[in-house]
Amino acid sequence: MYARVTARQQLTPSLVRVVLSDGDLAGFTMPAATDAYVNVAIPPPDAPYDDVFDLAEVRERFAKDLWPARRRYTVRAWDADRKELTLDFVVHGDSGVAGPWAARVRPGDVLVFEGPGGGYLPDPAADWHLMVGDESALPAIAASLEILPAGTRALVRLVCDGPAHEVELRSEAEVDLLWLHRAGMPSDEELLVSALRTAAFPEGRVQAFVHGEAAEIREIRKHLLVDRGLARADMSCSPYWRREMTDEDWRQVKRDFVAAMETDVA
Ligand SMILES: Cc1cc2nc3c(=O)[nH]c(=O)nc-3n(C[C@H](O)[C@H](O)[C@H](O)COP(=O)(O)OP(=O)(O)OC[C@H]3O[C@@H](n4cnc5c(N)ncnc54)[C@H](O)[C@@H]3O)c2cc1C
Repeated sequence: MYARVTARQQLTPSLVRVVLSDGDLAGFTMPAATDAYVNVAIPPPDAPYDDVFDLAEVRERFAKDLWPARRRYTVRAWDADRKELTLDFVVHGDSGVAGPWAARVRPGDVLVFEGPGGGYLPDPAADWHLMVGDESALPAIAASLEILPAGTRALVRLVCDGPAHEVELRSEAEVDLLWLHRAGMPSDEELLVSALRTAAFPEGRVQAFVHGEAAEIREIRKHLLVDRGLARADMSCSPYWRREMTDEDWRQVKRDFVAAMETDVA
């Protein structure tokens, strides 16, 4: 499946919104999930194939170093009437493939992708909602807050580089929101879990959405399951990315990392 970039917007110094339409979007089916994601395919510079390509064909015809890089991005918004897909990309310096792509993308450019997948949706039966993450989880958290109706409660803890990196979040729910700001120190990795340790949790059954950097997510998950007694079934929790690793390297070890996370709570 592919679509064309129609707009690019710098939301914050490190967050770029890319709006896509046309291409195959007439056939895009959005699941009932606020963490729906697409698996984008970004070719290397000077790839010897068209910008609209068939993934299977590229894999068959070209050497591996010419294959597109695969990355997952959350559907920040899907406008079914206009067939318009919105993705928000973290641009984390010059490193990586998808971040730099979003930094330089222009209207008319093509994005090839597969999907969508995803499975989290705020449960109307939960007494309250906990949402925790960094910029990579922000699209899913923003989309989730937007569908929470009036009369529901959400406790939201987010980490970013500073006040200029915060985005406005809309919700009809009663939202207890705290932005945490990195200070460029190794202790930044503790910001989210520390904020949770001191947070006063409302009474009742909580449904949690916790995604972001692997080491941070691991500590938070441990805290929620061990110290707070959350039920696994009430948690959507996964490490989206790993500090110091490209996504290719991370995917090689992710399964073992997730298995090791289980030993934290055994
Ligand atoms: C289901 C799912 C949904 C996701 N949704 C989003 C989304 O909506 N928006 C989004 O921006 N990301 C999202 N991510 C995370 C994104 O796929 C990864 O961050 C990815 O590694 C970025 O690719 P890249 O090519 O820019 O960097 P890579 O080539 O993978 O990595 C290069 C370097 O950058 C570092 N790096 C990677 N991501 C970040 C980051 N966020 N902040 C700081 N450093 C980083 C790596 O550790 C590495 O050192 C999602 C991940 C999953 C699994």
